[in-house]
Amino acid sequence: MPKYKSIFTRAVHGGERGPRPDFKPVSSPIYNSVGYLYEDLKDLDAVFANERPGYVYARYGTPTHSALEEVLADLEEGEAALSFGSGMAAVYAAILAAGVKTGSALLSAYDVYGATYTLCARLLPDWGVKTGFVDANDLRRVETALREMQPAAVIVETISNPLMKVADVPAIVELAHRAGAKVIVDNTFATPVLFQPLKCGVDFCVHSTTKYLGGHGDVLGGAVVTSAENRKTLHEIIKMTGGNLGPTEAWLTLRGIKTLPLRMRQHCANAMEVAKRLQAHPQILKVNYPGLAGHPQHELGGRLFAEGLFGGMISFEIRNAGRAEVFRFMESLKLILPATTLGDVYSLTLYPAMSSHRGLSPEERRKVGISDSLVRLSVGIEEAEEIIGDLEQALEKIK
Ligand SMILES: *Cc1c(COP(=O)(O)O)cnc(C)c1O
Repeated sequence: MPKYKSIFTRAVHGGERGPRPDFKPVSSPIYNSVGYLYEDLKDLDAVFANERPGYVYARYGTPTHSALEEVLADLEEGEAALSFGSGMAAVYAAILAAGVKTGSALLSAYDVYGATYTLCARLLPDWGVKTGFVDANDLRRVETALREMQPAAVIVETISNPLMKVADVPAIVELAHRAGAKVIVDNTFATPVLFQPLKCGVDFCVHSTTKYLGGHGDVLGGAVVTSAENRKTLHEIIKMTGGNLGPTEAWLTLRGIKTLPLRMRQHCANAMEVAKRLQAHPQILKVNYPGLAGHPQHELGGRLFAEGLFGGMISFEIRNAGRAEVFRFMESLKLILPATTLGDVYSLTLYPAMSSHRGLSPEERRKVGISDSLVRLSVGIEEAEEIIGDLEQALEKIK
């Protein structure tokens, strides 16, 4: 006998809420459920009051999100993590949680991700936040800016885009903390395989998990790894502002992370090989890769990064090339794809003057060192020789 008479009721409740099994699935299931039930309402009340762990509503978290957050905290060796629907949602929440508000100031590195730059340059000033930009590699300027602005927080990226400058994170932490500022580090390019910002005192470690952590170019997401105390603040923020990651996306990211160390090793080995070969190529004017001895922060990178790894991101300038020649070069690539993202298993190129740094005037671009001949390459995990072969045949086309 069916439990309910009506097919309507049976269609709604059939098969749901079976007894909890005593097995444990090997990999974490995707919890799509928005709501969660307890034996009695006292238990639910206790969960709402944070007196017992549990789940009440998907914006507050689900077991799938907890699984992802646990591995993120584990990899960064932080106390806790909170996942977000995108890297930018994570950056924004970290800025709020760091205490940036109307009447306070935020100091940012010049060469941060485009949307982080415009968040600092446009949206936050509209709300009465004083924002300033500094060359994060010039520690004297950082110190001066900290003294003059008295910011609530400083935001920098471990490896900058698209020139691959390495930030001296321990030194910046020391200066910022002495000036009473919190430190937010965007560790997207480095990943915890190379560098763990929290271990040198950074307050908020931010990721666009869309990139290396997800790794396959099929899931947008972000995360902040921080102290348990700061996570409480972030949790209050996400409860009010949303910006949550979907459970399927959390699960995909969790799956991607399983191969992160393997992928990073291959990304880094390939990037080193590609950088060396490009540097020796007569048509290449300059290669920006911290793994090369001539890079201005080669030693710093060697000191900060694990296992002699320098990341999978390269940029390079093609000799005697302008926009037209670079376009022809990029269109001649057969294996490497011209896609506006990075950190995927695929090798990808991007033209910063057209995309990430489009908003800057040619003069501003020149000032930050982004010429019309600059190409960014996210080196994938294919065979290094095939990546190099593709670059060489495309350079041949613009001779
Ligand atoms: C992509 C990226 C972001 C933004 O992340 P989304 O997931 O696209 O929102 C922030 N910082 C860095 C360094 C990035 O590469």
